[in-house]
Amino acid sequence: MFKKVLIANRGEIALRVIRVCKQFGIKTVAVYSQADRDSLHVRFADEAVCIGPAASKESYLKIPRIIAAAEITNADAIHPGYGFLAENASFAEICTTSGIKFIGPTPEMISQMGDKALAKETMKKAGVPVVPGSDGVVKEPGEAVEIARAIGFPVIIKAVAGGGGRGMRIVREESEMALAFKTAQHEAGQAFNNPDLYLEKYVVNPRHVEVQVFGDQRGNVMHFGERDCSVQRRHQKLVEESPSPVVDDELRQKMGEAAIKGCKAVHYENAGTIEFLVDKDKNFYFMEMNTRIQVEHPVTEQVTGHDLVKLQLRVAAGEALPKRKITPRGHAIECRINAEDPANGFRPCPGLITDFHMPGGFGVRVDTHSYAGYHVPPYYDSLIAKLIVFAQTRDGAVNKMASALEEFTIEGIKTTIPFHRQVMRDERFRSGVFDTSFLDSFEFHPQD
Ligand code: ADP
Repeated sequence: MFKKVLIANRGEIALRVIRVCKQFGIKTVAVYSQADRDSLHVRFADEAVCIGPAASKESYLKIPRIIAAAEITNADAIHPGYGFLAENASFAEICTTSGIKFIGPTPEMISQMGDKALAKETMKKAGVPVVPGSDGVVKEPGEAVEIARAIGFPVIIKAVAGGGGRGMRIVREESEMALAFKTAQHEAGQAFNNPDLYLEKYVVNPRHVEVQVFGDQRGNVMHFGERDCSVQRRHQKLVEESPSPVVDDELRQKMGEAAIKGCKAVHYENAGTIEFLVDKDKNFYFMEMNTRIQVEHPVTEQVTGHDLVKLQLRVAAGEALPKRKITPRGHAIECRINAEDPANGFRPCPGLITDFHMPGGFGVRVDTHSYAGYHVPPYYDSLIAKLIVFAQTRDGAVNKMASALEEFTIEGIKTTIPFHRQVMRDERFRSGVFDTSFLDSFEFHPQD
């Protein structure tokens, strides 16, 4: 096992990794920006190195400073968390050439899956069903129209380097193509420094269902069941659960097998997620692969009983995946508590948390780096806590989440807590019958 791990991240995920390292007796190194001096990941790590000013570009994304921090402190591995450099192939490469183990897949696997158009081609070749669309990059609107005519409108234009729901445009008819194409190209160029686009059929009212996969260095690949992330606002996940209310044993097996087939095709190593869209007739289509641990991994942990971050470290150290078959049981739900104002278009709401009271009890888990007196900085994503509940049934989990949310008190800033309370009361959510358009028709009532 590693002797000292540097965590190239911040917030709840940095803390999550530090806790696992402590259980293994591994020393930890936190890196932090000047805006994160008072963060818990800095306080709880054995050592901490300031890597620059607040802006991510000058700190958490600055590869030479992170490598220097690892070298000065003699860390033998780096955990990238999610976001920031987690899916940056050249970062993984530099770690390797510097003699530091990158806790994740190899740079080749990251590049192969990081280009979304290439990833689709790879999956298609491996026999995994993919959303119908262009073969690779589409150069100009005329070509896009031709493909759209062949597969049928509506279509969706997506950035090959996409992430976080950015750079996507739905096109319902031919006349909209030229403008949508230019806008998406511009947005992708700005956000990802790569304006390349691809096209796929817009699946109407699908569910977002993703399979958690793992590969070890000995060629074993396994899956840990699925997560349903259909509660999204502007293609961004807000509530996740496992199992999915629409996935039965047969579909789980089929999706699991497809996911494993896809991973084997690229000799995948460490934690990954294969995202699928599931249509009304329960057809499923590969959408993309995330080559890192996901924000929503705890729901899988609760139903499988496996600590996935621990497994990441084990696999990176060369150990084999567990031999025992994974049998998910019960039901888990996660709500993302963001420092955002749901009454004002989910506008980010950084600032001082004056009071902070967490819920607790049997089957209630909070992963957070926040506390009373913590100042939520305006520079990073707005996730301040993840509330996860576990119960024997979905109804039980929804009720437990509702009561945990009642207890959860955060004062001083606006959060998504009141929004989640309303979702838990919503009849459609409670029925389990909804799709990714669920929040489009959802009206938030702050007074309730
Ligand atoms: P990102 O990596 O930016 O998060 P994804 O490819 O994962 O982008 O897509 C995010 C969300 O956008 C999906 O969960 C789904 O709701 C929607 N979406 C993406 N592609 C399609 C499609 N072809 N048809 C319908 N919805 C889609």
